Amino acid sequence: MSAPASTPTPEFLASLSRRLGAEHVLTEPEDMAPHLVETRGLYRGLAGAVVRPKDAQEAAFVMATCHAEGVTVVPHGGNTGLVGGGVPFGGIVLSLSRLNAIREVDASNATITAEAGCTLKSIQDAAEEADKLFPLSLGSEGTCQIGGNIATNAGGTGVLRYGNTRDLVLGLEVVLPDGRIWNGLRGLRKDNTGYDLKHLFIGSEGTLGIVTAAVLKLYPAPKSQVTAFIGCDGPRTALTIFERLRAAAGDQLTAYEFIPRFGLDMVMKHGHDVTRPLQGEHAAYALIELTSPQPDADLQTLAETVLGQAIEDELVEDAALATSGAQVAGMWKLRELMSEVQGKEGGSIKHDVSVPVSRVADFLTEASAACEAAMDGVRVCGFGHFGDGNIHFNLSQPVGMDKAEFLAQWEHFNRIVHDIVAKMNGSIAAEHGVGLIKRDELLLYKDPVAVDMMKAVKQAIDPRNILNPGKVVAITDDPPPAL
Ligand code: FAD
Repeated sequence: MSAPASTPTPEFLASLSRRLGAEHVLTEPEDMAPHLVETRGLYRGLAGAVVRPKDAQEAAFVMATCHAEGVTVVPHGGNTGLVGGGVPFGGIVLSLSRLNAIREVDASNATITAEAGCTLKSIQDAAEEADKLFPLSLGSEGTCQIGGNIATNAGGTGVLRYGNTRDLVLGLEVVLPDGRIWNGLRGLRKDNTGYDLKHLFIGSEGTLGIVTAAVLKLYPAPKSQVTAFIGCDGPRTALTIFERLRAAAGDQLTAYEFIPRFGLDMVMKHGHDVTRPLQGEHAAYALIELTSPQPDADLQTLAETVLGQAIEDELVEDAALATSGAQVAGMWKLRELMSEVQGKEGGSIKHDVSVPVSRVADFLTEASAACEAAMDGVRVCGFGHFGDGNIHFNLSQPVGMDKAEFLAQWEHFNRIVHDIVAKMNGSIAAEHGVGLIKRDELLLYKDPVAVDMMKAVKQAIDPRNILNPGKVVAITDDPPPAL
């Protein structure tokens, strides 16, 4: 199958302008610019236009026109994706930003129906107004859109208790590559009428359909909360403490985030308005959150009992429980700054991987040792959603090394880290997705039968290969564009 011709002609753009209005078919370079650069600046794309339909019908018109003309389409939410999935290489960008209505909050069914262009924050806020919780939570929540969250099956800090985006979606409305609209907008907990098609689109990174709306699950709003910051001697002890907390608190344990000493040191060095929650220095830290919908749940005593025993057993070296909203925000800020501050230490090579939770300490120990043996002075920062087995295993360049020389080793470190992940039956793309960055890497680690099935699905739903071509799984032999 060859790639379709993807340059939109003036006649083609004129037909879109007639239907959408010229002000919603952007062709000026400065108007298109924010849609052409990936959030970390790793890729720069190009497009003939950025189009902004106002509803599913207009999106369907755009897709049908592109299908007829063989013009490629890259869907865009907030453009906060971290794997190059939204970078266009010709054709048009279809922005979902104008589809931003909350259609319904059904408190009794515990669901919210929202259009794809709603920011994640606006959905959290609408849930809160109804005294409910929409538990998806990411550092980018003010900008990313629910359509993008669904397309990437985003994870974040609530996965331990509530699961990934996939676990929060009950129904979808999707525009298919040929312009048909699939109305799967149902708020059902049970529906065994054959294949559960919504799961094809969740995590498909815009390669199978354009999500235009979704029915999402809501949960009781938390009414009690405890946030704690602990220090310990490394990942193995952090795992033991996690297991104890999980056993005692069950689903009330809603976050367990791991931060290595190097990570906290970077945040303290480069972050603004940050405070160390503990006096001394420790090899590793964990940010812990317990929540409950019961206003009188005594989480404080629960946390103090488990952590107190762990101090007695010489597992926890020091612990602080937040006593105000400001302290809670301050502890979370340390975690949220982790990615950003790493850029201030020169080049970084990043891996977003997962292993079974039972292997997460083994992974951190083995992968850190292997990387340190491979390059003198490389600084390992493995942090993140420890309780989900998801580690952002990032490497900072040795002090004084040339950045380009370090980044040239990305493939070399991929092999070291991803081979260990594979040996532990883990995933080389835990929560950010595949996009372009991991497209070819995936072929080395994914079961070949799974890759064949993915290609078959892509070819069945998008036979002209016009929807986000070249991302996730390549149908043509075209190499990915260079970084
Ligand atoms: P975009 O970046 O616009 O698009 C992402 C992909 O989805 C692209 O392939 C695009 O074509 C496709 N797409 C977008 N909208 C649609 C649609 N409506 N229909 C079909 N396809 C579509 N991710 C996590 O999982 N966990 C985190 O904790 C996390 N933290 C982050 C923190 C920061 C500061 C940043 C910048 C990013 C973070 N991310 C995280 C990554 C990113 O925010 C998520 O991947 C998010 O889900 C992307 O949403 P978006 O609207 O920005 O999508």
